Amino acid sequence: MASTVTRDRLVCNSSGCYQQIECTAWITLCSHVFCAEHGRELRQRLTANPGSPCPACGSLFRDGQSLLERKLDHPVQVRALQLCGYNPEVIMEIATVAIAFWNHQKLQVCANLTRKNEFYKESALVARKERDDAEEQLRRVKVQLGQVQAENHELKEKMVATKRNRRRDSSERDHKKLGIEKQRRQEDDFLL
Ligand SMILES: [Zn+2]
Ligand SMILES: [Zn+2]
Repeated sequence: MASTVTRDRLVCNSSGCYQQIECTAWITLCSHVFCAEHGRELRQRLTANPGSPCPACGSLFRDGQSLLERKLDHPVQVRALQLCGYNPEVIMEIATVAIAFWNHQKLQVCANLTRKNEFYKESALVARKERDDAEEQLRRVKVQLGQVQAENHELKEKMVATKRNRRRDSSERDHKKLGIEKQRRQEDDFLL
């Protein structure tokens, strides 16, 4: 039980901080809690400007009791002494407020986790859609590449055939030319 209590901590409500609160908690009347660093910052701001708003919810701090520093690492006996002297009704009232504060904080953490979960789910959907689109585009490009390669192959074959035909025509022309020259030489020999 003791180890569970030690592990289960509140987290700072300052936007972007969310660090676990170990020894010192700054508690507000509007049910928010801040780590040592952000609590001290808030205390300095309130000292300079007593009407400053809570960074977590915007509620205005009206007096010095709206923000309290609470040491969490006191031994249990020391903490218990803080309740000694009150009648049981007051002790129960204090415990009820403290438990409500704790539950409020845990509900906030749950709500944040749910929001994050939704955000990651949506991001995963968008990423999956982008991947499907990219795969579809890749498939189309592969089809186009196949067509271009087939056209290229066809053109190469045509070029080879054209060269072969040209060589054959040229050879036939040379052959005819040689025949005509031979015939002329024979005619010249005959006339002489
Ligand atoms: Zn913080
Ligand atoms: Zn607040």
